[in-house]
Formats: sequence, C-alpha cells, structure tokens
Amino acid sequence: MAQKRRQSDVITPDRKRRAQRLQTAAEKRRRQLNQPIAAALSCASWFPRHEAFTESDHPDHPKRLNACLCGITGRGLWLGTLTVADRLATDEELYLAHQRAHVSGLKRAEKAAQPEEEEEDTERNLGSVIWLPRAGHLAKIASADFPRVRGTKSDTFVTATSLEAARASVGGLLELVDECLLRTKVPGFALCRPPGHHAGISSSTGFCLVNNVAIAARYAQRTYPDLINRVMIFDWDVHHGQGTQEIFWKDPNVLVVSAHLFAKGFYPNSGTAEEVGEDEGRGYNINIALPVGYTDECLMRVFDDVLLPAARRFRPDLILVSAGFDAMVDDPLGEAQCTAAGFGQLTRRLWNLAAELAKGRLIFALEGGYHVGCLAQGTAAVLKSLLERTDEKEGPKLAKAPEDSIQAIGPQGPLPESIQAIWATRRAHQDLSMQLGNGAVMPFRKRSREQSEQSEQSEQTPKLLEADGV
Ligand SMILES: [Zn+2]
Repeated sequence: MAQKRRQSDVITPDRKRRAQRLQTAAEKRRRQLNQPIAAALSCASWFPRHEAFTESDHPDHPKRLNACLCGITGRGLWLGTLTVADRLATDEELYLAHQRAHVSGLKRAEKAAQPEEEEEDTERNLGSVIWLPRAGHLAKIASADFPRVRGTKSDTFVTATSLEAARASVGGLLELVDECLLRTKVPGFALCRPPGHHAGISSSTGFCLVNNVAIAARYAQRTYPDLINRVMIFDWDVHHGQGTQEIFWKDPNVLVVSAHLFAKGFYPNSGTAEEVGEDEGRGYNINIALPVGYTDECLMRVFDDVLLPAARRFRPDLILVSAGFDAMVDDPLGEAQCTAAGFGQLTRRLWNLAAELAKGRLIFALEGGYHVGCLAQGTAAVLKSLLERTDEKEGPKLAKAPEDSIQAIGPQGPLPESIQAIWATRRAHQDLSMQLGNGAVMPFRKRSREQSEQSEQSEQTPKLLEADGV
C-alpha cells in the first residue's frame, strides 16, 4: 500500500538551494575573517530522501544527519570547515566495489518502490518501502517480486529515492577524496547516510546499500595512482564491517582493521581474530573482537597495540575511517561504553598517524550511530579534533602530549577481556604480513618520528613481547 506524505515533507529544489545559500554564506564569512580551511565536510543530507516512512521508529532515520549538523553548529565548528559540493556517484563508481548485477538489483528495488502514479492535489505519493531480504542478495529478484520479498522491518530498506541517497552519500565522500588529495589537502569528514560498511560485493544489509568507504578506497587508488597505492581502513563502529572485509578479503593493497563488539547474537556475528584474509590478502584483514561494555581505554589499547604497529609496517598512503558512533554509551543498538571524548582523542591519534605516514591524508565517513545526542557529540568531537590539528602553513602537526594521555579519559583501565581480545589478534597476526607479534609495544605518545624509523628497522628482528601478564 502506497504511503502519502505532505509536500512540505519532501526535499525540494528550494530546500536544497537554501542549504547551498547557507553553505555559501559560511564560506564568505570564513574568507572575511581570513580563517584558513582546516577540514572539509560533505553531507548527504542536502538531500535525497531515504526514510522508512512506514516505520517511524526505524533506527536509521533522517534525524541522524540533522543531529550531526546540529552538533557542528552548536559548537561553532563551521568557520574552519569547507563544505564540498554535493554530487551523485555514477554506476561506474559503484562498480568499483560491487557487482554490476547487484547494482542492477538495487535499481530494480528502487523501481519497485516508485509510486504508481502522481496525484494532482497538494500531496505527493512517495511510493512504498521495500524491505530487502535478510542476506541482502538482490541479483536474482525481479522488480515485480520485490514487494513480496518482505525482509524484516527492522532491517534494510529501499524507497523510491534511496539509491539516489546512496549515490549522494558516496558522491560526497569521493568529493572529499578529491579535496584531500588534490585541492585543499585537508582532512575530511563525510556525513554519509545510508551507512556502508555492511554492504558487500553483492549484498545490501545492516541498513547499508552500497559500501561508501570501500568505493572511496578504490576510487583513490584508480584516480590517483601516482599518489595512492596502499589504503588503510580503520573501522571503529560497534558492529563488524563484514562488507568491507569481504570486498578487500584478497587485496594486499587495502589493510582493513576493525575494532568491534563480538558477542553471541550481536549483529553481524562475524569478525573474529582468525578472519585474516586469503591468498594475497592474507594478513591484511585485522579484527579485534571486543567484549560487551568495552570502553574508550579499550580502543586506545587497540590503537597502541594493533593499529599503530600495523600501520607503521603497512605504510598507507591514505587512511579512511569508518566512523560509527554506536559504541557510545547511550546508543540503543550498541552495547559498549565509549564516549565522545574518547573518539575525539582517537581522532587526534589518527591524525598524528596520518601526519607521520600518509602526508596527513585522513578521511572519516559516518557509519552507524542511532542516538541523536551521541551523534551530535561524536561528530563534533571528531571535527573539533581535526580543526585543532591543522596549520595551513606548517601542515599537519603532532598532537600535544597531555591530550594523548590515556588517564585523561577515565580512571578505569581497559576491560581484561579487551586485553585478551587484543592479544588474540596479535597472536593471529604474529606470523602474517603485519607481524604483530614482533617488536616491543611502546605507547604512541612516547614515540617520535626518529624512534619510529629506528623501530621500523629493528622490527625486522623478532623480539619478545612486553606482555601485560595476559
Ligand atoms: Zn554499527
């Protein structure tokens, strides 16, 4: 049964023009105040519609992006931020990470959701909501069959404008890649919606239609072959990004590191330390399967003991971050205990890492996060950390030590189960490409670039780990 909405609820060219006027005004003011650009932002919320309007309590709601924007506005973070132009990703760009047959399936689902006919009064028929099958495989479903597929109403949906929203989500991120590599060369944050990291080569699940970050990684490699050979993706969403893992499973040029909650029955029920990649890609997929209730300190240990040594061995040319905020304490879907301050601190560490290894090429893409307050706080914390870190003349700077203190976050240490998870990951990778079992682990804040170069040489020789008694 087709649902109806008032015209005022529909995104119109007028609303889009108004958003663009606001964007232009912010840019003008930035120039007047001679404020340097310190970060770039894309927002898929100006705004093809993607909303399960038959299920008002669906977690992936348009209010999520509004919350992100409110977080930025409320903390006065627009001034140093350049908003890139919005654009829709092309079919060819979607094919960078997805099978053509799957993209065709998404088009058929979108077609099946179209309204049968336009009505003449002031209301517009928005069509219907198509619920995708649980496994998300669409290649063999005919357009006429989509309304009968009936996946669960708490999961992934397609409406008449959802694919356009997904194209805008990817397109904004690709604009940021161009901005970061070619134009202003500042770090970026893409407010993507729908999210992407659960979308696989031929599947759309977990609210994700296409994999934003995976497409961005391949786009950067194809478009800038002289600059970008190796890409590292760090996924801090509370859910395992099984789609990203699948896409790069055999690819040694994209290192995927995912820190996520792993517990019985917790979606998507994958992402163990033993999932390490295959063939040439063996050793280039790193999972840290954290326990229920993991905290900021657990993520800091993940950074120090896994991400940092892996990155220094891999030496990425670009770092992409799948930045979900559903590991935050109030999120209704996550079961972790992280905070906005923790993600701000993690951002500073990632920025330092990008400055050290990747010429400051660092781009965040929003994934999950279903509590509007957490989204506002988390987005603002990440952007604020990026704005603090850039100096137009001097380029990327290292963060100040006090901000990098683990003790600044909270009095409690990381959960013992988290330490075990980190060591399980290091054990799984000790004889693989990243050799995580080798070399002493030194906190990031104590290492200088010179030390890094020295340790790079010394890590060629296996050493005993400085274990914490685990
Ligand atoms: Zn998530």
